[in-house]
Amino acid sequence: MNGADNNQYDLIVVGGGITGLVSAYLASKEGKKVAVVENSNNFGGLLNTFEIAGTKLEYFYHHFFTHDAELNWLIKELEIDDKLIYRLTTMGVFRNRKIYPFNNITDLFKFKPINWVDKIKFGLTSMYLGKLATWKNNENIGAKTWFEKWSGKSTAQSLWTPMLNIKFGPYAPIVPLAWMVGRMRQRLGSRKKGDERLGYLEGSLQIMLDALLEAMKKNNVSLLNNTHLEKIEFDNKEIKQLHFKDGSNLHAKKYLFTLPSCYFASFIQNEMPEYAAAINEIKYFGAVCVVLEMTQKLSDIYWLNIADDGYPFGGVIEHTNFVSPDNYQGRHIAYLSRYFAHEEDLAKMPNEEIKTLMISRLKDIYPDFEEAFIINSFVFKTMTAAPVCDFNFSEKILNCQTPIKNLYMANMSHVYPDERGVNNSIRIAAEACRVMGMDTDYVPKNKSMSATIGF
Ligand SMILES: Cc1cc2nc3c(=O)[nH]c(=O)nc-3n(C[C@H](O)[C@H](O)[C@H](O)COP(=O)(O)OP(=O)(O)OC[C@H]3O[C@@H](n4cnc5c(N)ncnc54)[C@H](O)[C@@H]3O)c2cc1C
Repeated sequence: MNGADNNQYDLIVVGGGITGLVSAYLASKEGKKVAVVENSNNFGGLLNTFEIAGTKLEYFYHHFFTHDAELNWLIKELEIDDKLIYRLTTMGVFRNRKIYPFNNITDLFKFKPINWVDKIKFGLTSMYLGKLATWKNNENIGAKTWFEKWSGKSTAQSLWTPMLNIKFGPYAPIVPLAWMVGRMRQRLGSRKKGDERLGYLEGSLQIMLDALLEAMKKNNVSLLNNTHLEKIEFDNKEIKQLHFKDGSNLHAKKYLFTLPSCYFASFIQNEMPEYAAAINEIKYFGAVCVVLEMTQKLSDIYWLNIADDGYPFGGVIEHTNFVSPDNYQGRHIAYLSRYFAHEEDLAKMPNEEIKTLMISRLKDIYPDFEEAFIINSFVFKTMTAAPVCDFNFSEKILNCQTPIKNLYMANMSHVYPDERGVNNSIRIAAEACRVMGMDTDYVPKNKSMSATIGF
């Protein structure tokens, strides 16, 4: 175990993704003695990066919103705000075998797959969800069904269903409208006069992770990567200590688990099977991204939703239509993205097969595309891309303070009714620290609705 000592900690954080890292950082700012336990080699979880042409890039595409107050605070706090850029982005929809730009009202007027009546309904329903609706009243209404009823069939088929598919894969039909309310607030909040501005850290989120790890080292946080938790030893319904595969153990006054719920449940299964079953009620779905490093771009669009059936990916995100290819020695980068259920073939399909399958369909969308454009391609997969938010999901969310004394949990399930994301992980970390008795009022809050349930 690297850098561990066996003195008592005030707090051990299990899981070194952004939720765990920020929780540990905030606690260390309060003068607490903290350790972070991460079972993989790198800290960062879903924010991990690799290198393309000498510059780091996220395994999974990431961007921010202009109103991400928590994220902007962290970036300033870590003094990396010179790397933060906000830019206008372009969106498109591939429908009826044609790419349509989809950025503003003019594009909506020109969008042939939606008829005129449904275009008006699209505008009205979007405004209603973004400005008037409340998530609480919409927890047991399916977003897909609601759109079919109120936004018109052609709008639902050409826009909302594909958009829900790209976000939730096979779980799209059971996503409650409540989630859509959170999402519309988020997206409309990042728009000015109809244009959407999104943010990115030049040099990738690795810049933020490195700065965060550095700041934690200065605060004497023990950063324990490659550290495999084997079991939690309980004594009279209290945690006595954590045992690791290398035979070492650690003890703390408090423990915060930030792992996806399904992994967390396995550690308390024997001691509290009923509570573990409640945790396991929250299912996760996976995601796979094929990243293409190319000599040429596919199109001028940053984000293309695939709204025709039968494609092995739901979105094409052309990263270098947002961040200049000059950052990658002129290479063009595109993500082909797809979410999947654990039961789907894609979950077990070998990476090479996924790559071949996805690349084989690109020419249908971009007739000028040639495989010779591809210099390198990479596949990244996770089984825990996001929790499945289904009807009345708020009832499934468990308290940050668990029934086990001094054991706390905070993870992506606490983001609901918002969309999971880096900003919302920071909000969750701040709220978890508050529940554990720390003052985190200095972390600003803007539009985030995360961590309002269970905290
Ligand atoms: C395809 C995709 C696109 C995304 N796009 C965006 C975006 O554009 N903008 C945005 O803001 N967000 C985006 N996100 C979401 C964002 O990445 C997540 O919300 C955030 O990273 C979640 O952080 P976390 O720490 O809660 O979870 P995770 O990152 O999953 O971290 C959990 C950590 O726990 C560790 N762990 C697991 N088991 C154990 C164990 N037994 N012991 C110790 N450690 C363990 C894992 O290795 C991991 O490091 C995207 C995610 C995906 C998958």
